[in-house]
Amino acid sequence: MDEKDWAPQTKAAQALGWTDATTGAVVEPIHPSTTYLRDPDNLYRRGRQYARADNPGFDQPQALISALEQGAEGLIFSSGMAAATSCFMALRPGDHVIAPDVMYWSLRAWLTTYAKEWGLVVDSVDMRSPEAVARALKPGHTRLVWIETPANPLWTVTDIAAVAELAHRAGAHVVVDSTCATPVLTRPLMLGADIVMHSASKYLNGHSDVIAGALVTRTCDEYWQRIRALRVKLGSIPGPFEAYLLTRGMRTLYVRVHTASANALKIAMAMQRNPAVDEVLYPGLADRPDHALAARQMQGGFGGMLSLRIRGGEAAAVRVAARVRLWKRATSLGGVESLIEHRGSVEGADSPCPMDLLRLSVGIEAVEDLIADLEQALAES
Ligand SMILES: *Cc1c(COP(=O)(O)O)cnc(C)c1O
Repeated sequence: MDEKDWAPQTKAAQALGWTDATTGAVVEPIHPSTTYLRDPDNLYRRGRQYARADNPGFDQPQALISALEQGAEGLIFSSGMAAATSCFMALRPGDHVIAPDVMYWSLRAWLTTYAKEWGLVVDSVDMRSPEAVARALKPGHTRLVWIETPANPLWTVTDIAAVAELAHRAGAHVVVDSTCATPVLTRPLMLGADIVMHSASKYLNGHSDVIAGALVTRTCDEYWQRIRALRVKLGSIPGPFEAYLLTRGMRTLYVRVHTASANALKIAMAMQRNPAVDEVLYPGLADRPDHALAARQMQGGFGGMLSLRIRGGEAAAVRVAARVRLWKRATSLGGVESLIEHRGSVEGADSPCPMDLLRLSVGIEAVEDLIADLEQALAES
C-alpha cells in the first residue's frame, strides 16, 4: 500500500513513515545548521543555502500537515500570529478584507490597528450568516475573507462551503483559521477554502511547549507565492527544535483530539444540568443553533473547546475559576492538560465576550475527574 493511500491516523502516527537515509533512524534528526555547503562549481545542487529560507527539519512537519489537510503545500511559521498576519501582509494597500466579528482576539486587535494603518480596509461581519457576508463583499476589491470556525470564544460555526462560494464569485480568497477544529474534525480545503491556518502551538503540537504556526494551500497560486516569499524575507520561521517537537506532537494528534472532543461533549452535557451555569456554548449540543451545520461540517466530534456562562455574572465566574484544583487557570488551548480562563479579563472592552464567560480547553484526563472538579467549584459559586 502506497503512503498516500494511508488513513490520516496512519500518516500522523508514522509522520508519513519517513526514516533518516543516513542512519536508518525512525525519528528525523534536528538540523541546527544555519548554512549549507556550496558545490565547487559554485552551484547549490542540494537546493539549500541558508536556514532562513529552508531548514530540512521543516520538510517533515510541512509535508505531514499538508497531507492531513489534503493540500498542495504546507509552511510552518514562528507562531500562529505570524502565519495569520502573513496572509494579510501579502495583500496590497487599499485591498478590502472581511473578518468575523467573533474571532481570536489577538488577530482581531492586529487587524483593527496595524492592518488598518497599513492601508487594508477591514470589515467585521457576522460569519454565521452567509447573507451578511454577501452584503459585505465588494467584487473586485475584496481580496480576502477570513473565517474562524468554531470561533473563539463563543464557538459559533461558519458554513465554509457557502462562504467560499460567495467569496470566490466576488474574486476573493478564503482563509480558514482551523486551529480549534484541527484536520481531524474539519478539512476546510475540501470545502472550498483556499488556505487553512493553524496556531500549531495548540492542538497540532498539543503539549503546551511550542509556539508555532502553519498554513496549507489548495493551490500554489500567486497569492501563496507572495506568502511563501514573505516568510523568507521576514524570517518568521520556527527554530529547528520547535519543528522537531511539532512533528513529535502531531504523531498523536488523532488520539488527543478524539479524546478531548469526547470529554468536551460529556462535560458540556453535565454543565447543562448544573444550576450554577446559565448557558453552555458548545456546537456539539443538540439544542445549539449551529448544531446541524456543525454536524454536517465536522466529522468525529465537535472539538475540545467550550465556554460556560456562569449564573451570578463576572464575580461568580472569577470565583469558579479560583476554586478549581485540577483544571489549570491559564490562557491558551489544545494541550493534553485542561485549562480554564476568565476570557473577559483578557479580551477587553470591544470584545463580544460576555463577562460571565469561562472558556474551557478540555484535555485528555479522565472525564469524571474534570467534571467532579468543575462541580465542586460551581457548588460554592
Ligand atoms: C492561539 C491562536 C492563534 C494565535 O496563535 P499563536 O501561536 O499564539 O501565535 C490564532 N488563532 C487561534 C484560534 C488561536 O487559538
